[in-house]
Amino acid sequence: MATSVNGSQLHHIVSRAQSLFDDLSFSAAREWKAAAPDRKVVGYMPIYVPRELIHAAGMLPLGILGGGDQLEVIHGDAFYQSYICRIPRSTIELGVSGRLDFVDGMLFPSICDVIRNLSGMWKMMFPQVYSRYFDVPQNYRDDIGGNYYINELAELLHDLGELRGKPVTDEELRNSIAVYNENRRLVRDLYALRAERPWQAPAAEAYLVLRAGMVLPVEQHSELLRDYLAAATAEDRPRRDNCRIVLTGVFCEQPPLNLIKSLELAGCYVVDDDLLLVTRWLTSGVPVEGNPLENLALSFLHHSESTAAKYEPDLKEKGQHLVRAVRRTSAEGVIFACPSFCDPALLDRPMLQHVLKDANIPYVAFKYAENSGQMQPIREQAGTFADSIKLWSGT
Ligand code: SF4
Repeated sequence: MATSVNGSQLHHIVSRAQSLFDDLSFSAAREWKAAAPDRKVVGYMPIYVPRELIHAAGMLPLGILGGGDQLEVIHGDAFYQSYICRIPRSTIELGVSGRLDFVDGMLFPSICDVIRNLSGMWKMMFPQVYSRYFDVPQNYRDDIGGNYYINELAELLHDLGELRGKPVTDEELRNSIAVYNENRRLVRDLYALRAERPWQAPAAEAYLVLRAGMVLPVEQHSELLRDYLAAATAEDRPRRDNCRIVLTGVFCEQPPLNLIKSLELAGCYVVDDDLLLVTRWLTSGVPVEGNPLENLALSFLHHSESTAAKYEPDLKEKGQHLVRAVRRTSAEGVIFACPSFCDPALLDRPMLQHVLKDANIPYVAFKYAENSGQMQPIREQAGTFADSIKLWSGT
């Protein structure tokens, strides 16, 4: 059968995203930096940093998500005990092997002790690099957490201005907020498409397109999203007899791409997930007019995603985001996939499972590491889960 023009465009977009994903030397970011003098690159780890600030300083925000299943960790293991997750080891490996030697700054968001400790190690190991542990509020009152966070943002903005040798203006920041609002809108469209017609945008494919946003300038990523949405919507793809699931727990160390593929092969359409949350952490557009730091802070306080690394002060609210995600996407069950030894995800899981049980939502749970190779057990578990959902729902 001849490939349609649209089909070849789709293939081209996904192949490009796949090669960006496979490239552990970050060539695209290196090329961006080399294209003009004085360009700088600032790396960041999961879950969330305000990329608008980096963009406003004229720099490239670069998502660092560990080494995946293609990187052999040789030195990284020596820095850590055996009973913690893998992402810090492979990130150290990326650093000591020179793969991040073009990165001028690194941001380590406050998500868990492992990332916090990594920020200290980075300072010692790479003293020439600007490193910052980026703290966020766990109090959601405007006059307490809000003020605290505005100060954190102002400090980061000041540091970025020092790094480039010129302060960042409010106008630059407003422009960057608008650019990221557009990117967030397109990412929401992608998730809406997956929730509505998941066979049109398979999870692994959508993940690759989203992940390209970790290494590309945001303007290019928005273009890629736009092209992908148009091509994926127009493509005629077969609809399978899959059940619809929400995938959760995958917010930091990334599951292997094969794991995401395996879920769909096992009969599960992933209609929502918490992968790469930085792309949609803020759940609505940030106002462009007014004080930009205040706007970013208020959006963080009142319009941001829920996840294990974020404190939920209202016990009745705990876990309800997951129930809402299931209802919103007409999902039939939840898969908890957590990185081995991930404290935030694994401590949260029993509480979330309790909430799902009360809401009569079926779930299954397993663990992974970014370099897990054996997908057969996961495929069996996910397949059995999908079959049991079909039996319970009587379809
Ligand atoms: S995978 Fe979990 S424990 Fe490991 S760095 Fe990420 S949040 Fe922390």
